[in-house]
Amino acid sequence: MPESQGRIPEPTLSRLSLYLRCLRRLAKEGVNTISSAKMDRRCGIAAVQIRKDLSYFGVFGRPGIGYSVQHLLARLTEIMHLDRQHRVIIIGAGNLGSALAGYSGFVLSPFQVVGIFDNNPAKIGQRLWGIEVLDVARLQDLNRDLKANLAMIAVPAEAAQEAADRLASAGVRAILNFAPRPITVPPDVALRNVDLTRELETLCFYIDRLPVTPDKPSS
Ligand code: NAD
Repeated sequence: MPESQGRIPEPTLSRLSLYLRCLRRLAKEGVNTISSAKMDRRCGIAAVQIRKDLSYFGVFGRPGIGYSVQHLLARLTEIMHLDRQHRVIIIGAGNLGSALAGYSGFVLSPFQVVGIFDNNPAKIGQRLWGIEVLDVARLQDLNRDLKANLAMIAVPAEAAQEAADRLASAGVRAILNFAPRPITVPPDVALRNVDLTRELETLCFYIDRLPVTPDKPSS
């Protein structure tokens, strides 16, 4: 199987999640097979791109028929390691950490929040959404039992690197960093950053640059 992660472009990997969402909807509607052209219309990604992305994983549609929705769904779920539960910890029991811990979208997902850590003595021992806030200084020790392999960082920017270092030492294999500060992780830890302000700033670039529909008020 041509599945050596090193050669798969990052944009392809981030589109797999979009394909999965689209396929889940199709499966719910009882669609059995789908061509890349029809998937193009459903997922909003060009057919040629879909075929190229899926070919990295040895998945090819049958000419004239397309892809089996169930087969593709199962294959992508397996490729993305979403065929198992992932135990997640959150560092930072503040506004964002609390919102993430209570996110209802995780309920029927493979992600289970199993621990929330903070360094504020006033927060340690409190419960957030039924989960006790634990002392971040004990992360390495406590994760032996919690067995989390995924983590989300929701601490102030200046504390983000320290949180990442603690997570790597505790055996966490993948980190989603919400702090607006670049952090580094060892080569055996996957890292993605979510920088909301940067996203909004980028969107601002488009304001007054895109053609406005005549009946819409201008900003
Ligand atoms: P917050 O101040 O409400 O919460 C931060 C928490 O981190 C606090 O509970 C604090 O005690 C804890 N903390 C501080 N240093 C720590 C350390 N070394 N180890 C463990 N815990 C530590 O902040 P927030 O609004 O939840 O934001 C958290 C991060 O997420 C920030 O970097 C922020 O820029 C980013 N962010 C926040 C939002 C949002 O909507 N609140 C959105 C996007 C990004």
